[in-house]
Amino acid sequence: MFDYLIVGCGFSGAVSARLLAEEGKKVLVVDKRNHIGGNSYDYYDKKGILVHKYGPHIFHTNSKKVWEFLSRFTKWYLYQHKVLSYVDGKLVPMPINVDTVNELYGTNYTSDTIIDFFDKVRNKNIEVNNAKDMVITKVGEELYKKFFEGYTKKQWGIMPEELEKEVTARIPIRTNRDDRYFTNVYQGLPLYGYTNMFENMLEHENIHIMLNSDYRFIKNEISYKNLIYTGCADEFFDYKFGKLPYRSINFEFETLNEECYQRVGTINYPNDYDFTRITEFKHLTGQKSLSTTIVREYSSAEGEPYYPVPRKENEKLYLKYKKESEALENVYFLGRLGQYRYMNMDVVVDEAIKLVDRIKEKN
Ligand code: FAD
Ligand code: UDP
Repeated sequence: MFDYLIVGCGFSGAVSARLLAEEGKKVLVVDKRNHIGGNSYDYYDKKGILVHKYGPHIFHTNSKKVWEFLSRFTKWYLYQHKVLSYVDGKLVPMPINVDTVNELYGTNYTSDTIIDFFDKVRNKNIEVNNAKDMVITKVGEELYKKFFEGYTKKQWGIMPEELEKEVTARIPIRTNRDDRYFTNVYQGLPLYGYTNMFENMLEHENIHIMLNSDYRFIKNEISYKNLIYTGCADEFFDYKFGKLPYRSINFEFETLNEECYQRVGTINYPNDYDFTRITEFKHLTGQKSLSTTIVREYSSAEGEPYYPVPRKENEKLYLKYKKESEALENVYFLGRLGQYRYMNMDVVVDEAIKLVDRIKEKN
């Protein structure tokens, strides 16, 4: 008899497993995949390059609590992500900053004067209701079309007007020359990889792991008192209220016999090609090698669920499942899929810590 059955061995499952194990609870973590780490799983490919199986994962947070918790299980490679966007035949910094504008338009704005430019082009006096408004109120239609419209359409399969403003709110507009993708206080990648960090986190006498095990097929074989579920909320209830849309991605990896493929970690392609972005892993990990591996991301409606789709109607449908889960005794939904929220890794870790705190209080 396990105290907790945890479905899913990504950040949500692994963090909650570790914290409960440290409270003396016997925990079984199951995952239908053949590896731990969820979407943050990484591995060494045939040429020995450390790659992220489910696309580039850069850890960044302002939470000292989250950073310190993970630092118990890993040292860090203090990487700060850089992204360029391929627009009008040029590679320019993304998020948009002073240099992006100058390089695109041949202007000489400084961080003191760029605000005059943004003020001239932005759409003032409109209410921000969606992912398009979020951008045009800051930089106007032209920059929106160049940097956001095509990318968003490719990534989500719908127009930005149909998505919640939080989607594009993830990307700031800068009035300085800071060309880092994230400006969080703590940023980096686990020095020996995410999988190694997960191995260390899950190394505890009270934690048992079963891979290649789908909850749907094993649930009646296992005795447990509590359930933490980090899979898709709609699947748990056999889609009784209808299917929740999740966006998927096809990852196309390529290993090249050259030392370096591109100048920075990621290049976004808002208007050209079918893929959204290309990432070269060696920039992220600092690994040295004569070969290099890149990944191209093609977004898709079909396939493994990776992104909840932030739209009002989807949130409404999710709330039905959430209500249903709350009516169940000792069942907790957690994570990007279980909570149907577009969360970064640090937020997921924080949610897992908070859940275990709530459970401890309850008991
Ligand atoms: P997951 O990692 O998805 O884990 C859920 C696990 O549950 C999976 O392993 C799945 O196999 C398992 N599961 C589901 N159903 C069942 C079942 N029925 N039975 C058994 N097991 C089941 N975040 C960042 O902070 N920085 C980034 O740079 C970043 N980049 C990203 C890039 C991409 C392409 C994607 C898709 C996400 C990115 N993220 C990033 C987000 C990050 O992946 C998530 O925040 C995090 O992985 C969520 O962890 P989780 O445990 O909730 O879910
Ligand atoms: N986005 C965009 N152009 C870009 C980068 C991002 O339009 O060059 C929009 C797009 O809708 C994307 C969202 O902003 O889905 C969030 O971008 P982020 O890089 O955070 O996406 P993730 O890494 O989560 O896929």
